[in-house]
Amino acid sequence: MITSSTDPQPADFADVRATNLAVVLRFVREHAPCSRADIAASTGLNKATVSSLVADLIDRRLVRETGLTENRVGRPATMLVLDGSPYAAIGLEINVDYVTAVAVDLAGERLLSWRRAFPGSVAAVAAIVRRVVNRMAKEDKQILGLTVAVPGLVDGQGVVRVAPNLGWLDTDVSGDLAKALRDPGFPIQADNDANLGALAEHRFGPHGAVSDLVYLTGEMGVGAGVILDGRLRRGGRGYSGEIGHIQIDPQGPECRCGRIGCLEAVAGIGAVLEHASPSPVEVELEIEEVVRRARAGDARTLALLGGVGRDLGRGVAILANLLNPQVVILGGYYVPLAPWLLPAVQAEVRERTIAPEAGGCQVVMSSLGYDAAALGGAARVLDSVDSGRLPRIS
Ligand SMILES: [Zn+2]
Repeated sequence: MITSSTDPQPADFADVRATNLAVVLRFVREHAPCSRADIAASTGLNKATVSSLVADLIDRRLVRETGLTENRVGRPATMLVLDGSPYAAIGLEINVDYVTAVAVDLAGERLLSWRRAFPGSVAAVAAIVRRVVNRMAKEDKQILGLTVAVPGLVDGQGVVRVAPNLGWLDTDVSGDLAKALRDPGFPIQADNDANLGALAEHRFGPHGAVSDLVYLTGEMGVGAGVILDGRLRRGGRGYSGEIGHIQIDPQGPECRCGRIGCLEAVAGIGAVLEHASPSPVEVELEIEEVVRRARAGDARTLALLGGVGRDLGRGVAILANLLNPQVVILGGYYVPLAPWLLPAVQAEVRERTIAPEAGGCQVVMSSLGYDAAALGGAARVLDSVDSGRLPRIS
């Protein structure tokens, strides 16, 4: 027998309640402090249902009452705010030369932010995660989940299909981490670093109200995380946003992917370092040196950054023509270089976009800096709470 999805099913009641809990939680996140009556009025749920849902959220310590009352005619109301302080969402970024770990509580307050040299193996990454987990346990936090950001193609199952700059092929990083941690009791996921950078900008950056934005990673690789109509767009198999491998210069240098003149070969951080210092030892220190020379007005450095900015601008113009984003955010190592890159990028985008004023596209630098992808990992965990995967009452 074929049943339509609208037929009542035994599981539906629990689903509806989880959905409604998530609706109320999101409302409190966006409108706190607010009253139960505010929630009922805005969500269309009746007052008794809202009271029951709020009681459940208070039991789970996701929401708490404050002493504040609404200054309105009639009975004063108890106001609600997000709590979530007993919980931690962890984000981890693995990149060519470093690992970044962050933890935030449900309200997005930063609990921890570490950056370490990349130890080279999943086992060593697991050791870092173990230290983060121990720290959170000491602070009495229940861990909601962990998302690992990787610079490469990550499929729908969280398997890293290829991460050329890490030399990874078909690596089940989340599964391997779970094994190394001996089933830690919280979900572990993996995602592309640019996707997570975009999520972080959307949740924690100054662009929360922007519904169409693109985040560009500025690492050895260049990837784009695309948010359109307020949602991350992953494409058919999750591989969207590989702007780093669009050909910018057919006469350009060979890319790590084996093709010629890709955006990341001409305008990735590797291109900056190759010309500035042919044998980089530590990327962050080398970038600081480039910044120092640019500040001092070194003509060769300024010409190099101008050229990289123009090539990057050609890539951003493709995004502007194709997607009409309101904001394109330059992340990673582009951030310290932004004062010299941005003018060239912006000029190139205006020049190459058919829409007037580049379709309103602004190119800005990330305010989240090196933590963006890891913060996005934490944001993805919080997003799953927002969409109804609530922590159990402990
Ligand atoms: Zn390439």
